[in-house]
Amino acid sequence: MNKIPFVTKKQVEEITKTYPTPFHIYDEKGIRENVAALQEAFSWNPGYREFFAVKATPNPFLIDILREYGCGCDCSSLTELMLSDAIGIKGPDIMFSSNDTPAEEFVLADRLGATINLDDISHIPFLEETLGHLPKTLSCRYNPGGKFALGTDIMDNPGDAKYGFTTQQMFEGFRIMRQKGVEHFGIHAFLASNTVTNAYYPTLARQLFELAVKLQQETGAHIAFINLSGGIGIPYRPDQEPNDIRVIGDNVRKVYEEVLQPAGMGDVAIYTELGRFMMGPYGHLVTKVIHEKHTHKEYVGVDACAVNLMRPAMYGAYHHITVLGKEEQPCDHLYDVTGSLCENNDKFAIDRMLPKVETGDYLVIHDTGAHGFSMGYNYNGKLKSAELLLREDGSVKLIRRAERPQDYFATLDGFDIYHKMFPQEGE
Ligand SMILES: *Cc1c(COP(=O)(O)O)cnc(C)c1O
Repeated sequence: MNKIPFVTKKQVEEITKTYPTPFHIYDEKGIRENVAALQEAFSWNPGYREFFAVKATPNPFLIDILREYGCGCDCSSLTELMLSDAIGIKGPDIMFSSNDTPAEEFVLADRLGATINLDDISHIPFLEETLGHLPKTLSCRYNPGGKFALGTDIMDNPGDAKYGFTTQQMFEGFRIMRQKGVEHFGIHAFLASNTVTNAYYPTLARQLFELAVKLQQETGAHIAFINLSGGIGIPYRPDQEPNDIRVIGDNVRKVYEEVLQPAGMGDVAIYTELGRFMMGPYGHLVTKVIHEKHTHKEYVGVDACAVNLMRPAMYGAYHHITVLGKEEQPCDHLYDVTGSLCENNDKFAIDRMLPKVETGDYLVIHDTGAHGFSMGYNYNGKLKSAELLLREDGSVKLIRRAERPQDYFATLDGFDIYHKMFPQEGE
């Protein structure tokens, strides 16, 4: 499949008159169409709810769009809870799916009335001690161990993952919580990441539904919801076939009708905590070519770096690149596309065929809408970029300004050096 940017060269030239590169830009139209399709795909389940994984794209303007379609927030830290609360997503509209959780985060989650999803059996007494009570509704994250496979394809390795309760701990934990007065239970699992196949959710659902039936039968616990969490992936590579959310929703329905309904559990709500699927394809990192270097290899140097998008440096992840205005030209030149960090892994692409690139060209780095900006950091004192929203009417709205040097030095406030640099702000 040809990956076509949602902005043209002409649009970018216009935008950069106000907002210099690099920046992340998000496509409102794409976000809306996708979330509407998701809601439709699971509309067979009356309790269905998507809790957007805030860590993927923690921008209130974007989360607000999802909220219009009934989405809540999935949080896993203090500041993610604070952000959700501040934008008016409250109480059971928040799912708190954390791990290795500090006590203060449980306190805030409980105060906000969030649904707490426990990562470990030891968190039951920890939570009770921290809060002085247990909430009436609690969820547990499940990790069956071993490998997660679809047929003969191994998708991921839960046995190596730090998350979740073992099968035996699920039964023990549910019994303990029932004794302690918990009334409604949830089951959560995230067993494979970025799955580009329609089979992941239905396969996971069968595993969780069968577990839910046993848990209810053996412990008497009322299972209120089953949370399929994240993991539905996106086609980062042009040759990948995108997931079809309608097929996924329909196949989860079939398993629901096959496993849960006959067990008298036709009232269980299905929850999801998608991040990548909700936003990934609807973000671009737009960057400008500032250098061409010809040494042992051919290098294209851009004004963004791994601070703006660390997935290639961190995981060797593929992100497709389009040279704006050269969409129709043949990809007959071999390049490494680099940022400016003093780190040789600061490369957005290695040995990538592109059209002939020249200084001043704008590159679109695709699929940066999730786990893109949000993974940013400040190595080499590099500053995080702005985030822009391309509205449906074609206008552009600034939804986060770029960092300034003041922001980078702000935690030195109170030290002489900060006041020397920014005397006017030091009072
Ligand atoms: C990261 C995460 C998600 C979202 O994962 P995606 O791959 O972006 O869909 C959901 N739930 C939890 C608990 C997570 O840690």
